Amino acid sequence: MDKQTHSFQAEVKQILHLVTHSLYSNKEIFLRELVSNASDACDKLRFEALDHPQFLEDQPNLEVRVSFDAEARTVTISDNGIGLSAEEAIAHLGTIAKSGTREFMAKLEGDQKKDAHLIGQFGVGFYSGFIVADRITVESRRAGLPADQGVRWSSEGTGDFEVETITKPGRGTDVILHLREGEEEFLKTWRLKSTIAKYSDHISLPILMRKEEWDADKATQVLKDEWEPVNKASALWTRAKSDITQAEYDAFYQQISYDTEPPLAFTHNRVEGRSEYTQLLYIPAKAPFDLWNRDKRGGVKLYVKRVFIMDDAEALMPVYLRFVKGVIDSADLPLNVSRELLQESRDVKAIREGSTKRVLSMLESLANSEDATERDKYARFWTDFGQVLKEGVGEDHANQERLVKLLRFASTHADQNVSFADYVSRMKEGQEAIYYITADSLAAAKNSPQLEIFRKKGIEVLLLTERVDEWMLSHLYEFEGKSLQSVAKGAVDLGQLQDEEEKKKAEEAAEQFKPVLDRLKTALEGRAKDVRVTTRLVDSPACVVVEEGDISGHLARMLKQAGQ
Ligand code: ADP
Ligand code: MG
Repeated sequence: MDKQTHSFQAEVKQILHLVTHSLYSNKEIFLRELVSNASDACDKLRFEALDHPQFLEDQPNLEVRVSFDAEARTVTISDNGIGLSAEEAIAHLGTIAKSGTREFMAKLEGDQKKDAHLIGQFGVGFYSGFIVADRITVESRRAGLPADQGVRWSSEGTGDFEVETITKPGRGTDVILHLREGEEEFLKTWRLKSTIAKYSDHISLPILMRKEEWDADKATQVLKDEWEPVNKASALWTRAKSDITQAEYDAFYQQISYDTEPPLAFTHNRVEGRSEYTQLLYIPAKAPFDLWNRDKRGGVKLYVKRVFIMDDAEALMPVYLRFVKGVIDSADLPLNVSRELLQESRDVKAIREGSTKRVLSMLESLANSEDATERDKYARFWTDFGQVLKEGVGEDHANQERLVKLLRFASTHADQNVSFADYVSRMKEGQEAIYYITADSLAAAKNSPQLEIFRKKGIEVLLLTERVDEWMLSHLYEFEGKSLQSVAKGAVDLGQLQDEEEKKKAEEAAEQFKPVLDRLKTALEGRAKDVRVTTRLVDSPACVVVEEGDISGHLARMLKQAGQ
């Protein structure tokens, strides 16, 4: 293929502009991003080589090399991973596969430190090279293709890029950054080395740099031909718990999650039994920007004996725990099976179940802790992730009972943090049901006339104001034998909470107002199913209720809004 010029997708142009202008004070992150791409490329090859061992050619050891050339003013990040074909280079380095560019831009806060983390989360890391480079050349050959089917991709990071076919003997990718004026600091071993240590220490394959030695004659450092590893490549999760400090756990979390804050909690275990594996799972302290995207990539990676296999989210964690980040490393899964087979594998299912239970235990121990600061953490977790956890009530029947105990609500007694157990402990003598109301907002719920009689009698009502609540309630009927009852549905039966006197009065009133009710029924024909005398109101003259078993007024409004 002769040299071709392609135009960047519009989104890429925007990203390029933003990245180079708004992340400058954190410019060194380009190295984190390019090393992480190199490491991903090696992971991909390792996996593909399971089925196609010939892909490894005569270079079975996967590694990343970082070097610089002071004269040419270039920094090069090389890997012998999967590589790119010409088509792949055009597709992956010219368009953004993942949607969300607009969200990315909306998310940029002008706080460069936080913004620098976002770039990794959004999968636009490659373009960060242009923070320090005014031209990037990528030379690559995909594993399995002959040497003369290499590709050179080159761009100044403005409107377009060029591609042409080259001959490249070694498999994999070299990303060559032609540094901008003023970026000479990256032409120094220590600067590159310390940046790698800061961001890429956890990468589990060796990152190599050329050895540097003091040359007394020239009175300067000179580069040797020998390469040495500059990262620990330690795969933290394989080390003994007792050897790992809290700071190391936190740093590992921040490296894999691109989070700016340390995690809320983590769990690290070696599981033995039918299937043997290590799990290191984290709960973030804050919701990520894409918490609502149920299809996003997995936060949990599956390894088999330190070899990365997949990060298929659903195979490893239920969707409602999509915020969990971490690593699972199996000791006994076969390495040489396809992703598809792995998803079907009983062992993977066992790992998923085991890990789900672990996460729930982690949450339970926060929620039920003796320690107020731990319980506080749970409250914070609930604020950010509660709505997602509620999805589990409907989706994960096996764990429903545990999940229900983790739910927290607002109620007429407290603005937040009310569990079903709290509610039950405050139930009135003779009260049989757990009462709730659904509404668009807390204010709307609190002001509902349906609550009047409950207020008067001092009966607590749960105030449910989130979209997912209605859906959740269609999967949940009771808590510990107490039925859940909407105060806005049917003829609320207060049962034994109403004394004989009140019941008698209500019956008399029904009799007395029968003619009025009949006339109202005729007047509202086709619009109201029934018109009744009620005891649920104290101050308001009338209210609309739906029939038991019908969808609530709140849900009806939501569906209408959604155009259904
Ligand atoms: P992400 O890594 O999140 O996918 P990037 O912008 O960092 O986003 O990279 C975009 C894509 O470019 C990658 O998904 C990959 O397909 C390709 N790519 C980047 N660097 C390499 C590399 N060293 N080897 C092979 N492919 C690469
Ligand atoms: Mg990347």
